[in-house]
Amino acid sequence: MKRSKAASIVDAVIVGGGYLGLLSGIALAKLGLKTAVLEKGSFNAMAGSHSPCRLFAISQGSCQIIKRHLELDLLSFGQKINHIRVMEFNVDAYLDFDPKNLGLPNFGIMIEESKLHSMLLSEARKQKGLVLVDGCRIHDVVNNEDFAEIITEKGVYKAGLALICDGKNSLVRSLLGIETHTKSYDQMGVVCDVGHKLSHHGIAVEKFIPQGPFAILPKEGGHESSIVWTLETKLAHTLLNLDKDSQFALLKERFGDYLGEIKIKSKLKGYPLELKYTTQYSSGRFYLLGDALHAIHPIAGQGLNLSVRDFNVLMTAVSDSIGQGLNIGANYNILKYFKSRHFDNQVMIESTSILNALFSNNVYAVKCARSIGLDLVNNMPAAKKFFMSYASGQ
Ligand SMILES: Cc1cc2nc3c(=O)[nH]c(=O)nc-3n(C[C@H](O)[C@H](O)[C@H](O)COP(=O)(O)OP(=O)(O)OC[C@H]3O[C@@H](n4cnc5c(N)ncnc54)[C@H](O)[C@@H]3O)c2cc1C
Repeated sequence: MKRSKAASIVDAVIVGGGYLGLLSGIALAKLGLKTAVLEKGSFNAMAGSHSPCRLFAISQGSCQIIKRHLELDLLSFGQKINHIRVMEFNVDAYLDFDPKNLGLPNFGIMIEESKLHSMLLSEARKQKGLVLVDGCRIHDVVNNEDFAEIITEKGVYKAGLALICDGKNSLVRSLLGIETHTKSYDQMGVVCDVGHKLSHHGIAVEKFIPQGPFAILPKEGGHESSIVWTLETKLAHTLLNLDKDSQFALLKERFGDYLGEIKIKSKLKGYPLELKYTTQYSSGRFYLLGDALHAIHPIAGQGLNLSVRDFNVLMTAVSDSIGQGLNIGANYNILKYFKSRHFDNQVMIESTSILNALFSNNVYAVKCARSIGLDLVNNMPAAKKFFMSYASGQ
């Protein structure tokens, strides 16, 4: 490996140009820090490569955090989530969540992955002091007392603060020897787009059906939704390998007819589901963020939202350090603030695993308990408010 070129010295360096990498790059540049984002892929290719049917539910709370740090109002984009309905397949019991009960106009937005990434990329490109380096392979990292050093095939980057945002299978996390906890769910999230005759009116539906939770998520325009069906890996592969007519018949039966005639608009795609997290939030001047810190089950659509709450704490700590003239990345405050996220993160890691176990289960007793639970929660305003607060990220 060549190290002849002089090192690039920046205030902050971020490994990974996904959602958390770009959000952090923009926020740090806005705080006046010279920042470099190092991405192994190509930004231009990434903008066009996302599957059209992968949708993100971004909560009200996350939108407010993003607006505060980036001055970007996500609530004016995407499809508003006006209502959430949770129901048991072929059973009358259901739970209805209305954001008005929390004094909110909606729970947040549904936005296509490609749209969100392109918006963040174009915002990042506008920032003075933010350098985006793509096609950048990492060779090694060095944790010095005064700076973090990242050795890449495009040169060496030195910074007072380094953010590890390179996703679930983070290379930097491994290079630093940070231990992870992993649990395979032996499940896949099968997703596809569906067109329908009637408008969805911004209602998101989660159905608990025998083979696994089936979410119908509203897309912009009113007449398209995205399906996310959590299935055992073996069943998911069977579904993915069926001919189009058989796939349609299976989906139609589970989707129901509440939105009139439906049509499958995209190829079915499967994502393997696995829980991976660490409880070590930092190592020297390196801080973990996003899926590099915790990749959770998508059953509640909260992965990115959870990371946005971590991002909020970290960016506030950096901003406070700058205000107090402290050395960013080195001071105790950042670690203290970041550690304050541990409880919320563990609650979400555990509750998404429990929800998945409960709602992917077709044992008769569990099914009955689930129906009774839905009815009970529906009639308990305090419990309903608790779940709604989580969904809206308040
Ligand atoms: C089926 C499914 C549905 C989901 N739905 C939702 C939802 O509705 N709402 C929600 O909040 N969350 C959802 N999530 C979770 C969400 O996708 C993740 O939490 C989010 O993508 C994490 O962003 P990230 O930036 O940490 O990681 P990523 O998006 O994985 O980005 C990591 C980046 O780092 C780059 N990289 C990797 N290795 C290196 C390296 N060695 N050097 C340099 N760069 C590197 C990658 O190319 C990538 O650009 C869902 C997840 C799944 C699987």
